[in-house]
Amino acid sequence: MLAARLHGPRDLRVERLPRTGPPQRGQALLRVLTTGICGSDLHSYLDARIGDTPVEQPLILGHEFSAVVEAVRPELLDGDHQPLKPGTRVAVDPAQPCHHCEPCEHGHPNLCRSLAFCGNYPYGGSFCEWLLRPARGCFPVPKSFDDTEAALLEPLGVALHAVDLAKLRVGHCVAILGIGPIGLLCLQLAKLAGATPLFVTDRLPWRPKLAEKWGGLPIRCDQEDPVQRITKETHGRGVDVAIEAARAGDTVGQAAEATRHGGRVVLVPQSLRCEWG
Ligand SMILES: [Zn+2]
Ligand SMILES: [Zn+2]
Repeated sequence: MLAARLHGPRDLRVERLPRTGPPQRGQALLRVLTTGICGSDLHSYLDARIGDTPVEQPLILGHEFSAVVEAVRPELLDGDHQPLKPGTRVAVDPAQPCHHCEPCEHGHPNLCRSLAFCGNYPYGGSFCEWLLRPARGCFPVPKSFDDTEAALLEPLGVALHAVDLAKLRVGHCVAILGIGPIGLLCLQLAKLAGATPLFVTDRLPWRPKLAEKWGGLPIRCDQEDPVQRITKETHGRGVDVAIEAARAGDTVGQAAEATRHGGRVVLVPQSLRCEWG
């Protein structure tokens, strides 16, 4: 099969590898349909590491993907606890928690200390044609979702979790600092939750402009101080909720300063945006 493997910093090679073997216990053999490129894939590409996890052997990156089930044992269940059948189109949860560590046992598998995560060394990812994943991490998608939309469910899950933590109420005034892919998803979810107004800030000029299409009030950090602008627009009060989705420069400090007394700041950390749930 064809696969894109990272051999070192900026050294990504499309190679022919032996086709992935038959499913082992609990696994489904998946054929990848569409895969996204996450910011963490870009970090891996540039540095051949994510955080303190270096890539020590050639690694297939990628964790945002849709796939079709090619082979699976008949008794296995999908993520919805239904029998998983060959031919089913699925979105895939790239995180496989251990179910035994303290966070797992306390009901927080997203914080698992031994998370096996697609495309994070040493676990191979989705920049390839076939891969094995636990059947329980496969979620059938309706026909109305195309393959790309199904692949986007993984980053959407990150944004859903962030907006869930924000505990938004109708009419909440919100600022989203950093309006890249995750920020844009947070924006659309905040709008659906009835939050208004929705300030969006970014250093890259095209991003706030794009966010304006989804109801964001754009603030370009390269042109003005976002805290001053938000303070002015809210008559000195600040926003009810700030969602920080950039982690660039002083966005964490800005999020705190732009929020009213008793408001809520949600940090969408690298770990939540990309890896380890
Ligand atoms: Zn665990
Ligand atoms: Zn990601």
